[in-house]
Amino acid sequence: MLTEKTFGLGDTSRYWRSYRLHRIALVVLFLGWIPAASLVDFLQRRLRLPVAIEYVMIILWLGAMTILGFRMALWACPNCGRTFRGLLPFLPRRCRHCGNLRQ
Ligand SMILES: [Zn+2]
Repeated sequence: MLTEKTFGLGDTSRYWRSYRLHRIALVVLFLGWIPAASLVDFLQRRLRLPVAIEYVMIILWLGAMTILGFRMALWACPNCGRTFRGLLPFLPRRCRHCGNLRQ
């Protein structure tokens, strides 16, 4: 799990930039699902590829979204190391456990 120790003391800007990159990647995966599935379907039909290509794409895409979602849900507070948002569905301005302010 990524904590302040991972990035060095007092370097929380990199820590929170990493969080924002995770969030952007998750949004891109979410919004890109239909265009990517359409492209794979088109290529599978055009190139007469096995149907298994589509199943592999689905498994990899959903797996990536699941992993990113869990990483963001369990994002650790750089101050106390516990999950920053607890069970809240969104990322609050302050850590739920120690009150550390998010950047
Ligand atoms: Zn905290």
